[in-house]
Amino acid sequence: MVIVLLGPPGAGKGTQCKRIVEKYKLVHLSSGDILRSQRASGTELGKKAAEFMDSGRLVPDHLIIEMMVIAIESAAGNCVLDGFPRTVVQAAELDNELSRKKKKIDAIINLVIDDSILEKRITGRRSCPACGAVYHVDTLKPKVDGLCDKCSQKLVQRTDDKPKVVKQRLETYHQQTAAVVGFYGDKGRQIFDIDAAKSIDEVTALVFKKLDSLAAVR
Ligand code: ADP
Ligand code: AMP
Repeated sequence: MVIVLLGPPGAGKGTQCKRIVEKYKLVHLSSGDILRSQRASGTELGKKAAEFMDSGRLVPDHLIIEMMVIAIESAAGNCVLDGFPRTVVQAAELDNELSRKKKKIDAIINLVIDDSILEKRITGRRSCPACGAVYHVDTLKPKVDGLCDKCSQKLVQRTDDKPKVVKQRLETYHQQTAAVVGFYGDKGRQIFDIDAAKSIDEVTALVFKKLDSLAAVR
């Protein structure tokens, strides 16, 4: 099963993906997380991606496509894609890659939310550098201030979650990524719009309802 989660930065894709993979036993493939781990390991890809990520721009398509094809392969095609595709070129290549593997996207979920809410969500996000768990300074606090509940590591703010870069990332979303929804729409694919301004649990309930209804007819 392949699920694609679309939505602007801060919409809650990562948060919901963690819950989806647990319930439906899928692999969570976050292009942002993979890039951050490449950077942490000091790989060539990580070095090439750094400048784009830190300025809130997209990493070039050919690098991302190569990276995600490998990731999808390692997940044996049973995955939730988070942060990919982010351009129409990436979306077309994903279709090609899946059809080569005789697979297809089973569900496209689009988290819909206004920019005015996103800025607070992103600048308040705190992440665990060790296990990738995500918190928020107001809405999802860890049990002990500043420490990860799961591994007790000190939580950090991603450098690209600072206000100046956030502005650029939202601009990048509207200029390059929002068109991915149109790409799937033009192809007649069903897109499940979910109101991502609701609470984390309410969004999860809506997502699960959609995925359960799909699973029932499979
Ligand atoms: P994305 O992966 O789309 O960039 P995240 O899942 O990392 O977004 O969420 C961004 C921030 O917003 C995190 O700090 C997260 O805890 C918080 N968050 C996610 N979903 C909600 C929600 N429905 N309501 C309030 N805060 C949320
Ligand atoms: P994210 O963790 O999804 O917010 O992504 C963090 C950053 O990684 C983005 O701002 C981009 O610079 C880069 N990135 C992640 N996914 C992609 C993608 N599919 N295409 C291009 N750049 C990406």
